[in-house]
Amino acid sequence: MKILIANLGSTSFKYRLFDLDEAGATLLAEGGFERVEEFTPCIESMLETLQNDGHVAAKEEIEAVGFKTVLGRGLSGCVEADDRVLEALHGFDDVAPAHNPAYAEGIRCFRDALPQARRVALFETAFYQWVEPAAREYAVPRSWRDIGIRRYGFHGASHKYVAERSAELLSEEALAERTRRLYVDGPGHWTGRSLRVISCHLGGSSSVASIKDGVAMGVSMGFSPQSGLPQNNRVGDLDAMAVPYACKALGLSVEEAEKQLASQSGLLGLSEVSNDIRDIRKAAASGDGKAQFALDFLVDSIRHWAGSFFFKMGGADAICFTAGIGENHPEIRAKVCAGLESFGLRIDNERNASLRSGREGYISTDDSTFKALVIPANEELVVAREVYRKLRRQEGAKAPGAPIRN
Ligand code: ADP
Repeated sequence: MKILIANLGSTSFKYRLFDLDEAGATLLAEGGFERVEEFTPCIESMLETLQNDGHVAAKEEIEAVGFKTVLGRGLSGCVEADDRVLEALHGFDDVAPAHNPAYAEGIRCFRDALPQARRVALFETAFYQWVEPAAREYAVPRSWRDIGIRRYGFHGASHKYVAERSAELLSEEALAERTRRLYVDGPGHWTGRSLRVISCHLGGSSSVASIKDGVAMGVSMGFSPQSGLPQNNRVGDLDAMAVPYACKALGLSVEEAEKQLASQSGLLGLSEVSNDIRDIRKAAASGDGKAQFALDFLVDSIRHWAGSFFFKMGGADAICFTAGIGENHPEIRAKVCAGLESFGLRIDNERNASLRSGREGYISTDDSTFKALVIPANEELVVAREVYRKLRRQEGAKAPGAPIRN
């Protein structure tokens, strides 16, 4: 079954085409567009490329399109991307302004461009459905909680992939299988060897998650993707009272404050150089103190969250790095893991520095009991597999436990 996964941003469109069957998933093609103003021309161009390159004979061969939707008001899990999903996304447009309008628009465009294909959404929040209430709520009045103000968590597909892949790499195949099937079987009761993983998704937006035996225990992002670690240009954690104070003191409207927190803050706000870590590193290397501070701040935030999760899980067996920053910046990985030798984690500097872009592997020494790994992001595979399972279940077939093989 050919399944296309659409990864939509406010100005970007990326895709991966998979072929899935009972035995597993094969990646057929991937591509994308930047500085996107409208999705429809991108979809048309993508379909042309897929046909010209022989990945599909006709667009009708694409049986389903999967969407890695971010946050839905009153809706999560893996669901048909119908009007209910559009309504749920729009219900939280203000909470995820860079993501929700783009996904709603993308779903509409695919409905027109590929009317025969099934459309399925896997919400990023799905991975956190088993988080304990104390790690899920805010201490706000009941009326606030009643309108959906709580911690949701994001980057679910990415952290779930890290959970699966780290279990495989640490030779815990039974646990990897349980993790792959989590959304089908639920967490149940795990009696195998326990595995505590701290997963660091460090990219344009970043988060740290704690995963015990394949199930998320918590994540640094809360109500919106603006919280937790400093993001590229979005704020990260901030005391709630700072917002009304800044509005009054600086004469900002709520909308202006929102805009500044969502587009002029984070690494850009701190460095005053760029929202891109490559530019910030370059500036820091040439002596720019603000750029260096932005890097130090990022490392400190990652350690803050990782440390909290280490304590909550009673230790950790592995820390994993994924996404653009996690995969490509050895000195950030080394700083995050510094000084933890007494907890069993020692970085192998040679391994860490020489791991090539896009490659997976250990960066800790062989004798470390707390391992450090780099796992290239593969969120689309997680979405593709759930879409496949959902459609097969609807057809009445036994839900397959497709292993990863790409
Ligand atoms: P997004 O979260 O938008 O998908 P990425 O995961 O690619 O983005 O992360 C973007 C960040 O990662 C940027 O700060 C960018 O500088 C950095 N990055 C991405 N790819 C590379 C690379 N090959 N080398 C160095 N840095 C990279």
